[in-house]
Amino acid sequence: MSTIPRRKFIQLSAVAAAGYLVQPGREARADDLPHLSADDPMASAMKYTDDASTVDAASRTNPAADQSCANCALVQGADGEAWRPCQIFPGKAVAAAGWCSVWAPKA
Ligand code: SF4
Repeated sequence: MSTIPRRKFIQLSAVAAAGYLVQPGREARADDLPHLSADDPMASAMKYTDDASTVDAASRTNPAADQSCANCALVQGADGEAWRPCQIFPGKAVAAAGWCSVWAPKA
C-alpha cells in the first residue's frame, strides 16, 4: 500500500500533468541548445565557422561585405545573444559572430 496520502498524490499528479502540458509548447531558446561545432558534418559541408573574421571574403559566393550569423536572414532568437538558433541547423545554436556559406542578407 502507498505511503503517500491520497490528497498529496492528487496534488503531485496535477503538477506533473501541468508540466507535461506546458513543455511541448515551449519555444526552443538558444540557452537550451548545444552549440554547433564546425566539425559537425552538416556544418562542415556548409563551411560553418564560429568566427566570421576567419573567412576569406573572396571565397564567398555572396559579395556582401559584412557577413555574420547576427545579420543573416536565417538566424533566429534575439539580437544581442552570443548564440542563436538558425533555420539551417535545427536543434543547435550558432555563434552570432559565426558564418556559413548559406548566409543571406536580411530583407
Ligand atoms: Fe549563420 Fe546564416 Fe549560416 Fe545560419 S544560415 S549558420 S545564421 S550564416
